[in-house]
Amino acid sequence: MAWPPAGKHTPVSADLDNAPPVSHTVTLIPGDGTGPELVEATRRVLEATGVGFEWDEHPAGEDVYAEEGTPFPDRTLDSIKRNTVGIKGPTTTPVGSGFRSVNVLLRKELDLYECIRPCKAYEGVRTRFPETDFVIIRENTEDLYAGIEFERGSAEVEKLRTFLADELDSPTRENSGISIKPISVFCSERIVEAAFDYAKKYGRKKVTAAHKANIMKFSDGLFLEVAREVAGRHPEIEFEDRIIDNLCNQLVSRPEEYDVVVLPNLYGDIVSDLGAGMIGGLGLAPGGNIGTEAAMFEATHGSAPKYKGQNKANPTALMLSGVLMLRHLDELEAADRLEAAIAEVIRKGEKVTYDLKPTRDDPSAVGTSQFADAVIEEMSS
Ligand code: NAD
Repeated sequence: MAWPPAGKHTPVSADLDNAPPVSHTVTLIPGDGTGPELVEATRRVLEATGVGFEWDEHPAGEDVYAEEGTPFPDRTLDSIKRNTVGIKGPTTTPVGSGFRSVNVLLRKELDLYECIRPCKAYEGVRTRFPETDFVIIRENTEDLYAGIEFERGSAEVEKLRTFLADELDSPTRENSGISIKPISVFCSERIVEAAFDYAKKYGRKKVTAAHKANIMKFSDGLFLEVAREVAGRHPEIEFEDRIIDNLCNQLVSRPEEYDVVVLPNLYGDIVSDLGAGMIGGLGLAPGGNIGTEAAMFEATHGSAPKYKGQNKANPTALMLSGVLMLRHLDELEAADRLEAAIAEVIRKGEKVTYDLKPTRDDPSAVGTSQFADAVIEEMSS
């Protein structure tokens, strides 16, 4: 079996007699690929903050798919619904065939509509953009990700093309595939409100809404119109909008001017990777997916299967996702302490993984687990 049986576990790395009282029961999903190693490292540093956790551990991803024929068993979903907070390792999505993305399922089942991706360049990382410190708030549920797609040559696409041509005077070329981009007032309003809430809670000064309203007047145009309305309710926070291509240009020329950036789903996805590149790479980019009923914290990166079981991948992105989780749980002091310890290990640059060294084959690079040891040591010093 790839992972111990599901169920509740008290902290493994704590001295049980002196373990702090349980303050939070959290669903823990090891995932697959490098996920279990990264989750284990993250669990250890979270426990080292002194916050009392009970881990309700359940599987998701390709390992459990191989054993049970589903990548996302009901018990895992039930656990998140019950605990309302979870932390998750990455899960592999097979290309072309096999099962659907666990992440898409999760977002859909739990309506995790808000994706938070802080992009902060810590001192000591190799980046051309050391001033970067902005937060992406990405809409997670609609847009071209809604899954409303019609395959070239299918009866459905031909029906749609005929309707477009005959009824709406909007012909399309033969042999077209069609993906639909719905943007609603409801989803635009709640994501922009979430961006302003975030700005207020964390002392940010400005919200920038990104769009392509000059071209897509009725989808992105609607997003922009709603964003302006919402901004009117929060006069204490500065608001501006940027066309998405201009935003990309500006982010890499004047990153220090950006604070909270709110985007529809697809632009949010793309700009998140841009942001990850600006802060030193995928190994450093954390994330959280938040809804009204539950919140799930996970790194931006995938399962990096080529490093599976090698104790090599960088756990920073998942640890920083753990920092976001601590803040979500109102454990602000523990969150600050953990973030400061991670930042200090990176700044010193000694006990860091291969991707944070000047060259990828640097023999002084440490493993996933030793990076966690260094963070724990830093917290206790
Ligand atoms: P990936 O993020 O797994 O890896 C791309 C490359 O980035 C790796 O080869 C590695 O060089 C580097 N990298 C990623 N994470 C790293 C880390 N923690 N430390 C050091 N280097 C790291 O992307 P991929 O190869 O495109 O995807 C692999 C699988 O993960 C796919 O099946 C994909 O669908 C899935 N995926 C899952 C999630 C998720 O679970 N949230 C997110 C993205 C992709």
